[in-house]
Amino acid sequence: MNLHEYQGKEILSSFGVDVQRGIVATSPQEAVAAARKLTEQTGTGWHVIKAQVHAGGRGKGGGVKLAKSLEEVEQLSSQIIGMNLVTPQTPPEGKKVHQVLIAEDVYYPGNSEPEEFYMSVLLNRTIGRNMIMYSTEGGMDIEAVAEETPHLIFTEEIDPSTGLLPFQARKIAFNLGLSGQALKQMTKFVSALYKAYTQSDASLFEINPVLKTSDDRVIAVDAKVTLDDNSLFRHPDYAAMRDLREENPVEVEAKEAGLNYVDLDGNVGCMVNGAGLAMATMDLIKQAGGEPANFLDVGGTADAERVETAFKLILKDPNVKAILVNIFGGIVRCDRVAQGIVDAYKNMKTINVPIIVRLQGTNADIAKELIDNSGLDVYSAIEFQEAADKVQAVLS
Ligand code: GDP
Ligand code: MN
Repeated sequence: MNLHEYQGKEILSSFGVDVQRGIVATSPQEAVAAARKLTEQTGTGWHVIKAQVHAGGRGKGGGVKLAKSLEEVEQLSSQIIGMNLVTPQTPPEGKKVHQVLIAEDVYYPGNSEPEEFYMSVLLNRTIGRNMIMYSTEGGMDIEAVAEETPHLIFTEEIDPSTGLLPFQARKIAFNLGLSGQALKQMTKFVSALYKAYTQSDASLFEINPVLKTSDDRVIAVDAKVTLDDNSLFRHPDYAAMRDLREENPVEVEAKEAGLNYVDLDGNVGCMVNGAGLAMATMDLIKQAGGEPANFLDVGGTADAERVETAFKLILKDPNVKAILVNIFGGIVRCDRVAQGIVDAYKNMKTINVPIIVRLQGTNADIAKELIDNSGLDVYSAIEFQEAADKVQAVLS
């Protein structure tokens, strides 16, 4: 689950990480009230108005603006709230902005030489360990830094049995070129950030930029946070941060129906039981010259109702030109699944793409007969390759 910047900062702050202070607002009136309140707390009359959407690169897309007066706060937030923000990380049509974060301006005039760093904590799946990635080249496009000057990106692996050790936090601060009070503050920052990451069961905390002010404060100016969905039962307060408006509506619907569905860009929808078989089926589709339109694991109980729900979800994607059903009948019987497919097809009346059904396992032969005799635009297959060939045939 991804979080908004303001939610990520709330979590960081609760673990003692210094953050750019801010208050979220859903209307220009609330924005002005928020700015007034912040001025009381911070003393600064300048604020940044930051669009809250699940995408980075907001600055480039016009979603982060500096306001030097309350009038500008009102004017800029009415501009940003409701806008369709397009950034390098949004879909081409952009993302609608429902709320803004009114934040203290931390690049204030007295802060004459701010330094921007990059820092993230993430799970490195290759080594099976958490790691901290950091760079002196913060504030801008870290992807460009990785491509053009990869030697400026450092990593620090964390041994799970010891956690982050104090010397590692100091090494990071040192490699960022800091000394004295700034080194001390950065060391504190890194330790608190790592604690926030582990205790919140996150898979990513990305802070870009981490700001060092000229008076040696170290602050998180941005926060991109991903939490592990499977841990949310442990964190009801974080689970409540979910913003469904930011998520793919079909994926949300699938989750409610208890189906594991991931939307993809291709043209062949697939319905499979078991995650491993689903992955293999996606490979099969590619081999047959198609592109998978989704990942869908219907799980162990592929009854007619479930099959129908799954068909409906797949068909919401207008790019789908064919559907490949690949079910292995171990506990579930193939003839039941076949009957479910036929019933769902008849019930829905709106299926206008060919369906290739590969059923293998218990009662596969009966299932094939059921499908072949149904009179519907459904092709049956028993062998994997046979299914691939049929997909290829209907695509060409
Ligand atoms: P992103 O573009 O989505 O990564 O959003 P960020 O939160 O990183 O903000 C983008 C840019 O806005 C930063 O790199 C800063 O240059 C600028 N910015 C953020 N906070 C402030 C601020 O308090 N004052 C000023 N003047 N600029 C800021
Ligand atoms: Mn950023």
